[in-house]
Amino acid sequence: MELFDALAKKGQELADKAKDVYDVNMINMKIHNEEKEMNREYIALAKKYLEKYEQEIDPDFIEYVEEIQKHKEAIEEYRLKISVVKGTKICTGCGKTVEESAEYCKTCGKKM
Ligand SMILES: [Zn+2]
Repeated sequence: MELFDALAKKGQELADKAKDVYDVNMINMKIHNEEKEMNREYIALAKKYLEKYEQEIDPDFIEYVEEIQKHKEAIEEYRLKISVVKGTKICTGCGKTVEESAEYCKTCGKKM
């Protein structure tokens, strides 16, 4: 009987441990989701800030603005490459793709 009690106790301990691991994993997942949401808000904040204060950026933040500008230029270049492959062109007014033969942009109406 003593052996049985000892085994039952061990079994319960293992079950408790498994539940603890499960709980910790669940909590870690919640932390991860909160961090993801928080980072989304940080990005939205930074974008809004940049739009509003683009002309008066504090020198402490210039390096970030310059990096963002580099990425924007790279994206533009990649879009241009795609448009060349697809036989389209990029509207200089709105940045949308326009058929190579189009005289005006369908989106913003700018003359091509
Ligand atoms: Zn356009």
